[in-house]
Amino acid sequence: MKTLHLKVMNEKSVTEIEKAAEILKNGGLVAIPTETVYGLAASAFNEKAVENIFKAKGRPNDNPLIVHIAEINELEKIAKNITPIAKKCMDAFWPGPFTAVLPKRDVIPSSVSGGLDTVAVRLPANSVARAIIKKSGLPLAAPSANRSGSPSPSTAEHVIDDLDGRIDAIVISEKCAVGVESTVVSFAVNPPRLLRPGGITVEQLKSLIPDLVIDPAVTAEPEKGVAVASPGMKYKHYAPKAEVIMAVGSINAFCEYCNIHKDDFDFALCYDEDEVNLNLPHISLGANDNHEKQAELLFQFLRDIDKKGYKRVIVHAPLKDGVGLAVYNRLIRAAGFKVVDL
Ligand code: AMP
Ligand code: MG
Repeated sequence: MKTLHLKVMNEKSVTEIEKAAEILKNGGLVAIPTETVYGLAASAFNEKAVENIFKAKGRPNDNPLIVHIAEINELEKIAKNITPIAKKCMDAFWPGPFTAVLPKRDVIPSSVSGGLDTVAVRLPANSVARAIIKKSGLPLAAPSANRSGSPSPSTAEHVIDDLDGRIDAIVISEKCAVGVESTVVSFAVNPPRLLRPGGITVEQLKSLIPDLVIDPAVTAEPEKGVAVASPGMKYKHYAPKAEVIMAVGSINAFCEYCNIHKDDFDFALCYDEDEVNLNLPHISLGANDNHEKQAELLFQFLRDIDKKGYKRVIVHAPLKDGVGLAVYNRLIRAAGFKVVDL
């Protein structure tokens, strides 16, 4: 299949936006930019188109998709039982990197929800994404636009690397501002539960949901045989081909461990503060406490690790406050839950 490349730097590129919307209305697949990562979009009402998302990505069928809308009044058409606390969070965090899981209406095919009776909904902030959703007149099911299992795409280049020739079109736009996927909260349970950390932090959520429950799968490997609340969290994910180990500990402990074991690793992913004493080829994700920067760079660096052909990589676990929790959540999955406590 020849994939059409549509360059759209802002919502004023009307012709290209109309073309993307037309393809979506006809049941095609279009990769679109969002502020989190690039998404692979199709009409959420079109069962066949949704099936093609799973095929193009190689995604397991039980891993549900997020439905993207451009106006809050679209929500009632696809979800029900919207609690006052859910509404409060949407008012505070939409448009933005926040996804609400709610009981679904029948118009949403079960292929979108991975067979669950709930649907995940997001209203993105990216103006190009919103222009395309609006023009299509459809809610768009859109998981990350990568091949399943590999790091999510934070640039159009990443989407081309993974999906060129497998989908109808790629909207080429800017690098994603946040760089990690949205925060997913289920309001289908009481109290609400954080299923995946992202651009909206636990601290922000707790200001509105004091009794928020953090799903254990956020920071640890889901127990075998126990159903996970967010199916996506059970897969080894965001993973480069290299074997990745995550090391948890202080700057001193990390540098000492790396230097002692320097023959066991060919590369380290670390922070500015680690660099001074590290005798191992490495790259820094930025300052220890600059989690926004770490999120922005993370998937680019995980992809670069493969391009460079590294085989065994050690990563220093980030601090878990703010957006750091999302970075930690992605890195522990990139490591396939292989962790050393220092
Ligand atoms: P992606 O769009 O690739 O970032 O993946 C979507 C994420 O949202 C996955 O981790 C899913 O498990 C989660 N998700 C989507 N729909 C639901 C749902 N109905 N219930 C729980 N988690 C969901
Ligand atoms: Mg994904």
